[in-house]
Amino acid sequence: MFKSVLIANRGEIALRVARTARRLGMRVIAVHSEADSAAPFVTFADEAYCIGPAPARESYLVADRILEVAKKAGAECIHPGYGFLSENPEFAEAVEAAGIAFVGPPASAMRAMGLKDAAKALVEKASVPVVPGYHGTNQDAAFLKGEADRIGYPVLIKAVAGGGGKGMRKVEAPEAFAEALASCQREAASSFGDARVLIEKYVTAPRHVEVQIFGDKHGNVIHFFERDCSMQRRHQKVIEEAPAPGMNAETRAAFGKAAVEAGKAVGYVGAGTVEFIADGSRGLRPDGFYFMEMNTRLQVEHPVTECITGFDLVELQFRAAFGEKLPVTQADLAINGHAVEARLYAEEPERGFLPSTGTLHALEFPEGAGIRIDSGVVEGGAVTPFYDPMIAKVIAHGATRDEALDRLKAALENTIVAGPKTNTRFLAALIDHADFRAGKLDTGLIERNLQALGAVEQAPDVAMIVAGALALAAEEKARLEAVAEARSSMADDPFSVADGFALAPGRIGHIDVLVEGEKHRVVCDAALEEATGEGLRGGDFTLVAADDALYVIEKGRQLKIARPDPLDVSFDDHHGDAGGLVKSPMHGKLVALFVNEGDEVEKGQRVAIVEAMKMEHPVLAPRAGRIEGIAFEAGAQLGEGARILTVVEHVEA
Ligand code: ADP
Repeated sequence: MFKSVLIANRGEIALRVARTARRLGMRVIAVHSEADSAAPFVTFADEAYCIGPAPARESYLVADRILEVAKKAGAECIHPGYGFLSENPEFAEAVEAAGIAFVGPPASAMRAMGLKDAAKALVEKASVPVVPGYHGTNQDAAFLKGEADRIGYPVLIKAVAGGGGKGMRKVEAPEAFAEALASCQREAASSFGDARVLIEKYVTAPRHVEVQIFGDKHGNVIHFFERDCSMQRRHQKVIEEAPAPGMNAETRAAFGKAAVEAGKAVGYVGAGTVEFIADGSRGLRPDGFYFMEMNTRLQVEHPVTECITGFDLVELQFRAAFGEKLPVTQADLAINGHAVEARLYAEEPERGFLPSTGTLHALEFPEGAGIRIDSGVVEGGAVTPFYDPMIAKVIAHGATRDEALDRLKAALENTIVAGPKTNTRFLAALIDHADFRAGKLDTGLIERNLQALGAVEQAPDVAMIVAGALALAAEEKARLEAVAEARSSMADDPFSVADGFALAPGRIGHIDVLVEGEKHRVVCDAALEEATGEGLRGGDFTLVAADDALYVIEKGRQLKIARPDPLDVSFDDHHGDAGGLVKSPMHGKLVALFVNEGDEVEKGQRVAIVEAMKMEHPVLAPRAGRIEGIAFEAGAQLGEGARILTVVEHVEA
């Protein structure tokens, strides 16, 4: 086996790869950006090298620098993880040319599968079914529109270089085609540096079913069964499971055969995933699925396959790269139980799933039978705007699907995160959704049920506010009593008694607090005296004090409660009527501005697009009126809350 590995990645996957490498006796070499110098994957490594500033383009994507470090540190192989350089054939070639083994497929296989259009053409030749559509070279807008008309709506426009659910637009009707095409091309150019697209028939009630394949350097290719990744939001996976609900032996064999054939067609070596889309309206059938694309790397959701097969896929990757034969044949493999993975993200489902960054004041995961946590951050660390805001993958394995789901839900509800907002509660609600439980899956399930899943604006929970307010009051009372005691021991001064905060028994009328920055008044009575005493911290809530505030946490919900600062003059500004101010919802780039100074807009009209984490977020006019004070040009970098423009209300003459 290799004696050392350089891991060209970060976060959760770098740590996960490092653990297996160490178990196999390798010296672990990490590379990291300036933003990650204290990250767990760096401290875990035997050696670590800083390769540049925070933006991935200046660090994790700089192939030359990583290769230089690998040579200097004497790495025998490079594991690219997923994302970043993992599917970059030039990098794989450069690594091999330097006499270092690349833990992944040959560059030729990456190239063959790298672009969705060419991949489709290639597997079609190997008799693998593909989605009807246009995947040719003509990129003329009118021509593409004609193809969409011919294929029949709804259609899907896909960036040929796309990945990670980005660069895709569903178009319901011909009128909407032109705008969707332009927006897709814009995102494709900015995210992948390639604006070309293909057009596909949109499969109804689509289910995403993918097959894990593995090849060795001796010509063997086998599969490790399927995963169902139909629980998606905006084409990004949210929950993944293995095996796929409703899959029978005959259909599984058909999926497996198609996947292995696709792998063999490109001389595949190592771990790869062949993604299919199945028409879920008639259940999974041997003749009801189509090839979508092949990912020539490890997948984020590989742990569910590890759970049900008992294999460490990263170990198999190292063995295949080292030239070993696959340790098993297809006939040796069997499925043990059911496994489900949920992607725990720092984001706010209640605010359109906006990424949420900041320090992780508390981070605790439960332990339990069948629970596995793959995480790359620790308490005290931070979720930064530079990378994917995933906090952890929470994985549960059980004898049955229901057992796995119950375990996953309990694990999520017992996860404590204070600081960035998370999707924990949303995930728990999804696990309990009747259709999901029943295995009635399709990729539109989440989008159709946002309301039921709680992914809508919600008033803060009153019980949580009261718990937080009382805890703050109790803290303040204890502090004042301590001050009073200190003073009275110094001088017997009756005026220094600390009752100014109106916390003396019988005199308390209310407690003013900031709930997520909004002013709230908690009215209380005699019960307060009792409540502010011992035992307040009980109840079902977890309270985490940090940042001059209290985080009240319950079953994945989190509320930040702070005492208003009487000296903060901006307080009224912040919480008065925001009027027609249009602010950037997040730290990001202003990719498009649709209005000019003086334009008249309707309430809810899209005025701009901010891109963050490679996703486009529309910015809407908060009211009807006239555009004034445009503060930025398209292309500008915006801080969270930066004022972009103002919509001035119409004044009747
Ligand atoms: P990416 O490379 O960005 O992951 P994919 O081609 O794998 O893109 O597609 C991602 C998701 O988009 C799929 O899992 C599926 O939900 C949806 N999708 C892709 N193609 C189609 C299609 N033809 N019809 C319906 N949904 C599709």
